Amino acid sequence: MTDLNKPVLHRIDDRLFQIDTLMFGRAGFTSVFLVKGERAAVFDSGVSVTADTVMAAVAAAGVRFQDVAYICLTHAHYDHAGGAHELLQRLKSVSADVKVACGEKPSVYLSRQDILDKLIISGRSTEGDRAGVMKPIDAQDLLVLKHEDILDLGGISIQALNAPGHANGHLVFSVPQSDFVFVSDACGLCGRTDHHNPLIVPTAFAPEYRQQTYLDTIRAIAATGVKRLGFAHFGVLSNPRPALLASIETTEWMQRLVREWVDGRRAYDEILMRMVERLSEPLMALYQDHERVVVTLKSLVAGMAHDLTRTA
Ligand SMILES: [Zn+2]
Repeated sequence: MTDLNKPVLHRIDDRLFQIDTLMFGRAGFTSVFLVKGERAAVFDSGVSVTADTVMAAVAAAGVRFQDVAYICLTHAHYDHAGGAHELLQRLKSVSADVKVACGEKPSVYLSRQDILDKLIISGRSTEGDRAGVMKPIDAQDLLVLKHEDILDLGGISIQALNAPGHANGHLVFSVPQSDFVFVSDACGLCGRTDHHNPLIVPTAFAPEYRQQTYLDTIRAIAATGVKRLGFAHFGVLSNPRPALLASIETTEWMQRLVREWVDGRRAYDEILMRMVERLSEPLMALYQDHERVVVTLKSLVAGMAHDLTRTA
């Protein structure tokens, strides 16, 4: 049993670490990553109330706080970017030039309290105070990244790549020296990372989800032949190509069911039941709670229906 008061640090290689944020009091639910060169970067932030867990894990990895140069955010969803403000305040107290680095759209969202208030609503409704709070980040603390921009940490570099579909302005972060890409939510939820039978479930959350671009992103990442992917939910998947290609099929299967419901050819309860049958095992690995699995599948259905009716 994981001690929920202690940071969980998993060393991938000399430069790369996975940190379990223990978000919502759950082990194995949301990871962020740490890359260490002469300076360091954190990929995604957790939520505001997990900032101390992330800071403790950074210290446990042997990284001095003043050497953390970037908090790199893949997208502005609260469970990925909600902790950026808290981490930034802690790091700025020891290092003046730390930046929050993200794509253009997330940089706009993160600077506006009215948008942040909307982004945190779903988290507050399901997780209450454990979702934390989101506060705006000042323009001078933001670094806007474009596709293929490189951040040099000294001895190791990170490349930002566009990965649209899941959320507006979603970037992924490649660490070529570790043959690793942190995909966060861009390719789905990885409920089972064992090598024999990994299973990726789509992340189709309204209103930003766009299925065609989401599937194009998965194909593009599969085509790179990268050896390891880091999923925010959850963990590291080695040799990910077969699981990525299988997830395209899963996504299209879900979309067919959602279309049949939208068109009035199948009942909602029936499509939901079929999804529970096929996907509850990998989702249970993440959520450890059947009710929460059903809530998640309902929100995936809503996201796919929103996408279908928008593009129809
Ligand atoms: Zn997301």
